[in-house]
Amino acid sequence: MSDLNEVGDRDNWTCWLCDTAVDPDSSVNSDRGPSVDSYTVAKTKKSTTVVERLAHRQCNTMKGKIAPVVPWSPDLLVVDPSPIVATVERLKNKGGREIIARCPDLDDANAASDWLLDRLSRFAPDTRFATQINPGGGQYMLMLTLD
Ligand SMILES: [Zn+2]
Repeated sequence: MSDLNEVGDRDNWTCWLCDTAVDPDSSVNSDRGPSVDSYTVAKTKKSTTVVERLAHRQCNTMKGKIAPVVPWSPDLLVVDPSPIVATVERLKNKGGREIIARCPDLDDANAASDWLLDRLSRFAPDTRFATQINPGGGQYMLMLTLD
């Protein structure tokens, strides 16, 4: 278990689940206080590694009850957005590509694509993603794939 300050500094005091700031000076017992979220990931079939990320205590606690919630930005105009965490996990395990959201016009699709790639660079820094925007049925489908 690493020191909380070490993990916080490395993650720029940003919660890896909700992507908002964590106050390093707030109490570790408060809902918005800092905590270290540690989880095991498979590196290969035989070896695993423990990853430690900074999270609000509340976000970390919620995660045990339901899959981690990584919200889409409310500023985006997206229709039927897929759950980000579940989609990322499937792509990491199986590859391929998935429709992650639909947008009414191309500008919205580009904005959603930029936001998503930026978000994923912090959420899953070890994996490189790419997006594709495909028109169809009078809207634009935002596809996510591994780079
Ligand atoms: Zn949070």
